[in-house]
Amino acid sequence: MKKHLLVAFSFATLMVSAQDKAARYAPVISAKGLKEKLTVIASAEMEGRETGMPGERKAAAYIEEQFRKIGLQPGNGNSYQMTYPVYRDEVSDKSLRVNGRSFEWDKQYFFNLASVSNGTLIINNTVFAGHGVVDSAKSINDLSGLDVKGKMVMVLDGDGGTGSAAGSSFAKMNALRRAGAAGVLMISTAFPKATATATTSNIYFRQATGAPFVVMTISPEIASALLGRTATLSINDLKTIKKGTYTAEMQLMVAKKTTTLETSNVIGVLPGTDKKDEYVFLTAHHDHLGMRNGQIYYGADDDGSGTVSVIQMAEAFAAAAKKGDRPRRSIAFMTVSGEEKGLWGSEYYSEHPIYPLDKTTVNLNIDMVGRVDTERLTADSLNYVYVIGHDKLSSDLAPINEGANNKFTKLTLDYKYDDPKDVNRIYYRSDHYNFARKGVPVLFFYDGMLKADYHKISDTVDKINFDLMQKRVQMIYYTAWEMANRDNMLKRDIPLTMPGR
Ligand SMILES: [Zn+2]
Repeated sequence: MKKHLLVAFSFATLMVSAQDKAARYAPVISAKGLKEKLTVIASAEMEGRETGMPGERKAAAYIEEQFRKIGLQPGNGNSYQMTYPVYRDEVSDKSLRVNGRSFEWDKQYFFNLASVSNGTLIINNTVFAGHGVVDSAKSINDLSGLDVKGKMVMVLDGDGGTGSAAGSSFAKMNALRRAGAAGVLMISTAFPKATATATTSNIYFRQATGAPFVVMTISPEIASALLGRTATLSINDLKTIKKGTYTAEMQLMVAKKTTTLETSNVIGVLPGTDKKDEYVFLTAHHDHLGMRNGQIYYGADDDGSGTVSVIQMAEAFAAAAKKGDRPRRSIAFMTVSGEEKGLWGSEYYSEHPIYPLDKTTVNLNIDMVGRVDTERLTADSLNYVYVIGHDKLSSDLAPINEGANNKFTKLTLDYKYDDPKDVNRIYYRSDHYNFARKGVPVLFFYDGMLKADYHKISDTVDKINFDLMQKRVQMIYYTAWEMANRDNMLKRDIPLTMPGR
């Protein structure tokens, strides 16, 4: 009896397929391991991981340490970090004088930090354009007959009683920009300001080129001075002023310092065997929203969950390699920064790829896989994941993913977000899109947590369902295993339709 069993067992071992081998290492991906790592990534010490800030740098260092411990090779030459610069402006001096008279910041004016350059701006003529409403549908054009090209243009607040939608500050700004104005001076009575205007800008990715379009808000006192008046006109008086060009010297002195901050994508590689020049990319974003008003945005699900999923999959594939079951293709494990700011890290990678994108067979991207969608009211709410991109770029994606899932994990793979009528446009909203637009087939895995605690301080570790998360991550691992070991790269047989605007 015993002997027979042994014979049967070794025979079965010989017959084991590549996919079944995957099952030996899947248990490395465990609820316990995911929780351990997420407790670090989404801890207060990481301060919400805002791109370029100390907390995000700490998270990147932690991920590097994990990749090193697992035995991955550095993904960027001899470094695990692919650094890229981001910027932040700080304005110290910002004084304004009109005809020699000084005005005070926040008491009589303020401006959008990104809209001014360092140095002194001197303006001798200002155009007054009434309310500055341009609305062709209503045959309103407050700019008609005015020479606004290269000029600073002063406008009153509101639509001037026309009911036009073009009465918003935004619409006026756009109309003036289109007309070639140098900037807009919006007249407002909301002075002195109740809250101080920030003098440090948000972090940004791309430095603007060319002269900026000045966006400044001014009090009626400044407006009156620019119109050559010594007494201050009321808003009602200002409404009666004739449109046209007025002469007054305005001097704006700005001392603006741009600081360059460093951020990074973290990349570790497990080299393959006979197909090691081809790559499977497993990605997530490690950045989140940082801190606001002293409160930490922990980002446990978004996207601490994806980050630790990538690390645990690396552990599983490294364990396989150690036992002689190294994947045929190389696998790159990458966590990117800048996602919350606008997919910066993945954009940077796709514009400066370290591994050829035409040899990158697939990108499996994970952004939020630890929660249950509160809007999902079906019986499978503890056994599903949304899969996005199954019908795009490659007809190989869905059969492989579904095959792996049917064999091992048996989750409901929900394609709801691939419906072209879906308004959330998820396909274009996370890092995989930067691979997709370069032609790399992608699948994106997501739990659907758009309401609940999405982008709130309450997105914390205690809300994660680690058993469900383990199952989802194992499913992605099985999918990656097959894509790394099959004979051919995924075919690229479905052209991507770009989003309509
Ligand atoms: Zn996210």
